[in-house]
Amino acid sequence: MDTSQMSRIQDDFDASLKTVEDARSLQDLKVRYLGKKGEVTGLMKEMRNLSNEERPAYGQKVNELRQHIDAAVEEKRAEIEAAALEERLKSETIDVTLPGRTFNIGSQHPISRIIEDIEDFFLGLGYEIQEGYEVETDYYNFEALNLPKSHPARDMQDTFYISEEILLRTHTSPVQARVLEARGGKEAVKIICPGKVYRRDSDDATHSHQFTQIEGLVIDKNIHMSDLKGTLELFAKEIFGGEREIRLRPSFFPFTEPSVEVDISCFKCKGAGCSVCKKSGWIEILGAGMVHPNVLRMAGYDPDEYSGFAFGMGPDRVAMLKYGIEDIRHLYTNDLRFINQFKQTEDGGETLESL
Ligand SMILES: [Zn+2]
Repeated sequence: MDTSQMSRIQDDFDASLKTVEDARSLQDLKVRYLGKKGEVTGLMKEMRNLSNEERPAYGQKVNELRQHIDAAVEEKRAEIEAAALEERLKSETIDVTLPGRTFNIGSQHPISRIIEDIEDFFLGLGYEIQEGYEVETDYYNFEALNLPKSHPARDMQDTFYISEEILLRTHTSPVQARVLEARGGKEAVKIICPGKVYRRDSDDATHSHQFTQIEGLVIDKNIHMSDLKGTLELFAKEIFGGEREIRLRPSFFPFTEPSVEVDISCFKCKGAGCSVCKKSGWIEILGAGMVHPNVLRMAGYDPDEYSGFAFGMGPDRVAMLKYGIEDIRHLYTNDLRFINQFKQTEDGGETLESL
């Protein structure tokens, strides 16, 4: 029996095993020796050529070689797996001393805040909040508000038309027209309508093609100009401080008669004159008036029985005045450096000095 071939095979195997570094080449090595066509399997096949006397000893030798290879392969496999696990644990280590992820808490946009303040005030006076459509019909945006197609005052509001009859609303007044119509000319109305409006304007520090409006409308029997004035006086004190006064100046709006511009005394200089009020001591803050009889009539109200007042203001302008914002575009460009200035502190207070 020639055992030198077995020794050579074992030496070859031992040498090859040393070069193995991964499970794949380990498996290949195992097949090379113990597979169906492997070298050790070949030795087994040779048993049939041996005499009965030689066979047991030879068989035992081959078996020992086989067991040696098997055991060495398994040992190597365990080593490779342990190394892989070690590698993985290293790469997946969690450093518990790292600081946690911080979540940014958002802040309310200054316009939303002004709108909510104004809504709160009017809700307290018993008004309802009504919202309408930003895409409107020409009828509700203009005609129902005493602005027929040929009316020159339409030029006051450069309009985004979608089609001949469909447009982006230029003011929140169509909400009023719709509510009046829905009430059928009989019920009293006491609403405010906040929302976005659109005008074809070249954007600059004081103009934006999109801005917000809040309009108010009160219709009932025996509503007078004095009711309007009293309401707006209360409003000015609530939003701009208890010492504010208001001043009415005659003006023109197609849907009110008479119409007024409303100024508040300057909250900055208290009337002495400063840059905010352009040295006048007064700040123009809203437009208002008694509802035009034609508007009442078109909605089915009898102007001899019902009267009312309406007012409109821009929360953008209120926010700019209140927070000292110099460019209206800051309100729409979503620059976090700007918006983060309006973060509320944990106790709900404001971080910017409230006026
Ligand atoms: Zn002033």
